Amino acid sequence: MKFETTQAFALACDQQDPMAAFRALFAIPKQANGEDEYYFTGNSLGLQPDLAKDYVIQMLVDWQKYGVKGHFEGEYPWMPYHEFLTEQAALLVGAKNEEVVWMNTLTANLHFMMVSFYQPQGKRTKILLEDHAFPSDHYAVESQISHHGLDPKENMIFWKPREGEDLLNYQDLEQILEQYGDEIAMLLLPGVQYYTGQVLDMKTITQKSKAKGIKVGFDLAHAAGNIELQLHDWQVDFACWCSYKYLNSGPGSVAGCFVHLDHCQNTQLNRFAGWWGHDKQTRFKMENKFKATPTAEGWQLSNPPILSLAAIRGSLDLIQQAGGIKALRQKSLKLTAYLHYLLAQELGDKISILTPMNEAERGCQISICVNVPHFDGKALYQQIEEKGVTTDWREPNVIRVAPVPLYNSFNDVFQFVKILKECLA
Ligand SMILES: *Cc1c(COP(=O)(O)O)cnc(C)c1O
Repeated sequence: MKFETTQAFALACDQQDPMAAFRALFAIPKQANGEDEYYFTGNSLGLQPDLAKDYVIQMLVDWQKYGVKGHFEGEYPWMPYHEFLTEQAALLVGAKNEEVVWMNTLTANLHFMMVSFYQPQGKRTKILLEDHAFPSDHYAVESQISHHGLDPKENMIFWKPREGEDLLNYQDLEQILEQYGDEIAMLLLPGVQYYTGQVLDMKTITQKSKAKGIKVGFDLAHAAGNIELQLHDWQVDFACWCSYKYLNSGPGSVAGCFVHLDHCQNTQLNRFAGWWGHDKQTRFKMENKFKATPTAEGWQLSNPPILSLAAIRGSLDLIQQAGGIKALRQKSLKLTAYLHYLLAQELGDKISILTPMNEAERGCQISICVNVPHFDGKALYQQIEEKGVTTDWREPNVIRVAPVPLYNSFNDVFQFVKILKECLA
């Protein structure tokens, strides 16, 4: 794809973009002057699809109309409500329907999965994670290790970028697996690293780690709805993701969880159980003999928050209307390549980019470091915000920008680079 630096080029790309019409189906926050913000934080909180709002209202109305009977009545009864979202979840992450469920929130699911998949035994007690893991993942792993009466200092192994580098290097992972392979019980790594935007090669990581007898889990917070995934075929053991980033389902909305078919029927796995994980046929017999549903649904605890699931259903329906994750990814590759092109053309050596630029190793997000001596990156971030650009700032010195295919335009990207250039001049 050949890009040009003019605004006319950006506008022409928007005109030819088959996904352009979807922007109008979202609520775009406004600047003080009444114009749309240039919103680039879909990696942190995705914008509201009108459909999500409609579906939530529909559930509020059903609650008014039916009271408790809403569990079984109405077009979308609450009893099986989570099942209305199963197929689309499976398509999104490359899973079988039995392997996915919407429940709880992301960090809670990481814990529930570790209850089942972190079983320290003998010499095999360690968990491998990345050095710059998202704090919640780090705390979850640390506390799981403590919960087993083990010392986190001795049992957390970190895959870290080399001195002076930002990205994770696979040779280093291989070396860790070589050296500690038979001491590692489980690994927890991101699909897309939240700080650098690096996409990890989940297929190869899974293959090499499982060959060493390690259980493999991924945190897909920044991957779900962003890149294509094949969790079943890659033979990932478990994965968790939130629905409020690239999945546009609202702040703190219910999270997704994947358990590979290989494990769904294994009743020997530890689990923290609740009544909603109990076999559907006999759940209401209330006999207090737990019989797990033989799918990922067997890990559910509670009857789910329907209002939140309704928002997810709206968002997933919209993604489906847009052609699914494949179509999203297709536009995203182009949109982010365009952002990269403009940054290189217009800002050259004033900035550096942490994110790898080959397609396989990046999603929507580009992480930018400012290189101008004595220039305060955080002040720059605030300046562009005053001009209508919403990005996010991550300590110590990164501005993360994530144009997302469903509602960002090529003109958004053009305006962002123009404003950034003005502020750096
Ligand atoms: C966003 C994010 C979280 C947030 O966790 P919640 O439990 O949803 O608050 C956790 N881990 C990663 C990697 C994230 O990107």
